[in-house]
Amino acid sequence: MTESAEQSRQYTTAVAVEDFRRNIAAVQARIDAAARRAGRDPAQVQLLPVSKTVPEERIVNAVAAGCRRLGENKVQEAKRKHGALADLDVSWSVIGHLQTNKAKDVAAFADEFQALDSLRVAEALDRRLQAAGRGLDVYVQVNTSGEDSKYGLAPDELPALLRQLPNYSALRVRGLMSLAVFSDDTDRVRSCFRLLRDLRDRTRDADPDLLGDGGLSMGMSGDYELAVEEGSTCVRVGQAIFGARATPDSMYWPG
Ligand SMILES: *Cc1c(COP(=O)(O)O)cnc(C)c1O
Repeated sequence: MTESAEQSRQYTTAVAVEDFRRNIAAVQARIDAAARRAGRDPAQVQLLPVSKTVPEERIVNAVAAGCRRLGENKVQEAKRKHGALADLDVSWSVIGHLQTNKAKDVAAFADEFQALDSLRVAEALDRRLQAAGRGLDVYVQVNTSGEDSKYGLAPDELPALLRQLPNYSALRVRGLMSLAVFSDDTDRVRSCFRLLRDLRDRTRDADPDLLGDGGLSMGMSGDYELAVEEGSTCVRVGQAIFGARATPDSMYWPG
């Protein structure tokens, strides 16, 4: 989304359990309404709250308000929070680009990794997971906006990677993940989501075994309703639940 649109949304900072309850209920109601508009069952859409940059003392309240899964973009931050909040009943999803030298950390604590974009990372994760006797749910990230700043495979690289993934038995492929273009032009945003859905559908037609449940992780605070209308099964929502972030998004997708 553009800077002006982002600012105009004015996500207020949630601190108390009650703030989180209210924000989660509001997001959930919008997800449900978007699903119904598209003739979908709202139960097909999971909400993944994204807690990056949010300090532990506020995350505790989000968990008290009902968050059972948390998404983090950066491995070091996720690892630190996982350790500090080990007594909470919450599972951790790493949703940001991974370097192979951090695969060991992800294999140790994460329940899900949504940004798989290379064979090298698949290989590194699988080796660490096999050693730890663990499995990991993964989504393959696709660059649907064509922007250099976004991570993910080019759409035409997807089939070759998916054909290799069954060799890595600790990885359970759950579906595809993407970030749409940040734009006020909803047609452009929608076309990113449609591209991901088409890729999922074409992959399944070619080989139903390659994509697990065929999940689609797409949609963030600024565009999750469009994503749900276009078939999202997992929306990753940070600011609309936790409040505006001070850190610029260029921290997470350079460029
Ligand atoms: C931060 C982040 C989100 C959530 O963005 P919000 O604008 O806070 O909703 C979603 N996906 C990824 C990969 C992220 O890094």
